[in-house]
Amino acid sequence: MTSIALIVAAGRGLRAGGDVPKQYRDISGGPMLHRTVSAILSDARFAKALVVIGAEDHDLYHEAINGLDQARLLAPVRGGETRALSVKNGLDALTEHAPKHVFIQDAARPFITAALLDPIFDALTHSDGAFPALPVIDALWKTESGRAMTPQSRTELVRAQTPQAFDFVKIHAAFASADLAAHDDVAIARAAGMSVAVTPGQEENFKVTTPEDFAKAESQLSVPDIRTGNGYDVHRFCDGDAVILCGVDIPHNRALSGHSDADVGMHAITDAIFGALAKGDIGQWFPPSDMKWKGAASDIFLRKAVEVAKEDGFVITHVDCTLICELPKIGPHAEAMRLRLSELMGLEVARISVKATTSERLGFTGREEGIAAQATATLVRA
Ligand code: MG
Repeated sequence: MTSIALIVAAGRGLRAGGDVPKQYRDISGGPMLHRTVSAILSDARFAKALVVIGAEDHDLYHEAINGLDQARLLAPVRGGETRALSVKNGLDALTEHAPKHVFIQDAARPFITAALLDPIFDALTHSDGAFPALPVIDALWKTESGRAMTPQSRTELVRAQTPQAFDFVKIHAAFASADLAAHDDVAIARAAGMSVAVTPGQEENFKVTTPEDFAKAESQLSVPDIRTGNGYDVHRFCDGDAVILCGVDIPHNRALSGHSDADVGMHAITDAIFGALAKGDIGQWFPPSDMKWKGAASDIFLRKAVEVAKEDGFVITHVDCTLICELPKIGPHAEAMRLRLSELMGLEVARISVKATTSERLGFTGREEGIAAQATATLVRA
């Protein structure tokens, strides 16, 4: 029960613009045809694939299939004047391979998945052919000279996609005696009396046709740029009567010593953001050797990190800060800290977490020599 894919790539693809036929244009760094053939060959149910190409596209074709499993690619066949003639040439060439089923696929549909193919393979056990399709959602109207005339029922209509799969012997015979001006392969199959099942299509399996479609294809393939950065900071206690943590003054029997206001929480968050951006750390942006930062409120540092993230095209989606100390108690102030950070960062409170832990009286924080903070920031490229 072999299946072979017949990929039709002989069109000129003029609507897409560009100086090569659209199936050879790049999507995310590789020709579209490469992606389409690769998607077919990645499914082991296809024994082979055959591509029908334009008369002048020999070099473009060989460039496009570079790196693919050559053993499963049959020698390309030259297309005809129309799509139907191209399919006919492909079917003729497959005769010697005598597949049970042929899957006729548009070169401009690079997004097939196993979930799309499974129901087609299933349907072929009881039908002469099958193809995926989507329902029509928009209202349909007959128009005349730009005016609405009569509404059309959409309930029985579907939008056909490919691959369109058929019993090879039957579709080959249908093409041999068909009116090749027919709409598509299904129309030729139906005209020959073949039974053709409709299986669920997928919106992602769209046909890349216009320049807008290329942009959509690029975004469908692009990997989201989500970054996680971490920050860690420590400041030691000194004499004083308050500490500043995450922008909030908290009365205490000590203060924190540092070049700036020693807001250890805000420093950790700032470093987490710079870390996500892979842009160094707070010390590189605000050198302690520079006297102008002496005693500075740490908002300046955090605001700068937020600004750099924005300039680099990132949205900060979340920060989480843990303050590590025995005293002062953080819990009663955590809400105020979240609000202050929210104000400074222009980030909703629900995306800001401030929490605390002691270190069970162990280590420097346990001996109350200082406070440590660690933070995580999540950034997404917008
Ligand atoms: Mg610091």
